[in-house]
Amino acid sequence: MTHNYQSPWFKEALELEGELKINTLNSKEISDICIVGGGYTGLWTALKIKEKKPKTNIIIIEKDLCGSGASGRNGGCMIPLSSKFPAMKKIVGTKDAVRMVKASEEAINKISNYCKLNSFDPQIRINGIVYAATNNKHRGGFDNLINELKDNNINSWERLTKEKIQKLTGSKRNIDGYYSAIGGSLQPALLVRGLKKIAEKKGIKIFEKSEMLSYQDNDKLIVKSINGEVECKKLIVAINAWTPSFFSFLSRSVILVSSDMIISEPINNKIEKLNLNNGIVVLDSNLFTHYYRTTIDGRLMFGKGGNTFSLNNKVIRSFDGPSSIENFLKKSLVKFFPSLKNTKIIQSWNGPSERTKTGFPFFGYHPKNKNIIYGFGYSGNGILPTYVGGEILSSMALEEKNEWTMSNFCKGPIKQFPPEPFRWIGAIIIRNAVRRKENAEQHDRNPNWIDQQLAKLATSIGRVDRIKD
Ligand SMILES: Cc1cc2nc3c(=O)[nH]c(=O)nc-3n(C[C@H](O)[C@H](O)[C@H](O)COP(=O)(O)OP(=O)(O)OC[C@H]3O[C@@H](n4cnc5c(N)ncnc54)[C@H](O)[C@@H]3O)c2cc1C
Repeated sequence: MTHNYQSPWFKEALELEGELKINTLNSKEISDICIVGGGYTGLWTALKIKEKKPKTNIIIIEKDLCGSGASGRNGGCMIPLSSKFPAMKKIVGTKDAVRMVKASEEAINKISNYCKLNSFDPQIRINGIVYAATNNKHRGGFDNLINELKDNNINSWERLTKEKIQKLTGSKRNIDGYYSAIGGSLQPALLVRGLKKIAEKKGIKIFEKSEMLSYQDNDKLIVKSINGEVECKKLIVAINAWTPSFFSFLSRSVILVSSDMIISEPINNKIEKLNLNNGIVVLDSNLFTHYYRTTIDGRLMFGKGGNTFSLNNKVIRSFDGPSSIENFLKKSLVKFFPSLKNTKIIQSWNGPSERTKTGFPFFGYHPKNKNIIYGFGYSGNGILPTYVGGEILSSMALEEKNEWTMSNFCKGPIKQFPPEPFRWIGAIIIRNAVRRKENAEQHDRNPNWIDQQLAKLATSIGRVDRIKD
């Protein structure tokens, strides 16, 4: 991946840094821990390890620039994992699921406080989240979820009246919905580049433009790049969408699918009129959800998940370009906001998110070498969970026996997709069925029975676990 085509967030963050200083790996290095991947997961993990054991010698190697992957191009929507609770509970058990929901919720203030304490400002605004229904079929979609959260004393959601939902979301298209105060938005690339700087200040060595090409694990663990190598006692692989290509034993654990976004020019007055001059995040109740938020300088970001699926989980070139559904996104935006019909869109982009079969992340040890650790599978919802991921991976690397390392989240992939080519063909068939079903629902028609059954197979890859059928 190069940074030639990047998200506006990433370009903005790099511009603010002025002249880039890039250290590449051209030597033989020795460290206690080598982390591969300089996104949120790699950086939070490194920072957590330093906090717990300040003398640990840590090296991060990143194939492009820190943040050039999902961390510097995501939507910046901070969404805890509460909407995944019923599925998590079934799969990892109530205790682990409750801990994960709480940890992902606590992450929002922890990240915010961390940035304040370390004097950098990724424009965090904690104004909550709305899951909105845009059609009658989607009304009341969170009621079961809320009951389950309430049974476990972890509910933060409330159903609001149509009027309140429309006021909060700025759109008459939203006719019902739920609000939680635990959520908000930020400028994602400022967060990841800020973490990089703090990591360097704390003595963590970072090599960029230094791809791990292979590793050797005979008597020593050695990570190799084109011009250098790092010998280490523990290797943490935090390469997100690239993980299944690197570790074949994980190739069936995720499916890579794009999330696509557009962003407007600054339209402060219009944003103010829509009552969207705050950090609220709005998602609709489709499986491949539309989502939007504004920025502190008055731009509107509008996106949708679930468009391009890649065969064999390869990080294909189109993930590093403009969105192939830019026109569709523009039209959808106007459906939500007719007053923005003539608003100029300044850029579209996309990127691969790794959807797990379960819909939530997992962590594990390489089956042949417990000193090699990995964690990924945030399924398009990673800003808060990667903070938790840093806590988990740091515990695994430091061999702590705690509630995370003993949990079912650290047992590798629990469920798998079928092998290729069935995975990819199945994904396309299901995606198209979901589109037809949601289109019918939007027009108050009953979806075709087959499409309904096929769409059920996809529930794990949406952001919300339980929408009534
Ligand atoms: C388009 C898009 C929109 C999203 N929107 C949201 C959102 O609004 N809210 C939300 O919570 N989450 C969102 N997500 C998910 C979130 O961005 C991710 O879950 C999160 O950034 C994952 O962080 P990471 O560090 O694990 O991965 P990444 O940030 O992808 O970092 C992995 C790094 O590994 C590097 N790498 C890969 N292979 C190698 C190698 N061989 N050697 C060295 N380095 C390597 C890559 O260059 C990359 O920098 C979105 C994701 C995408 C793609």
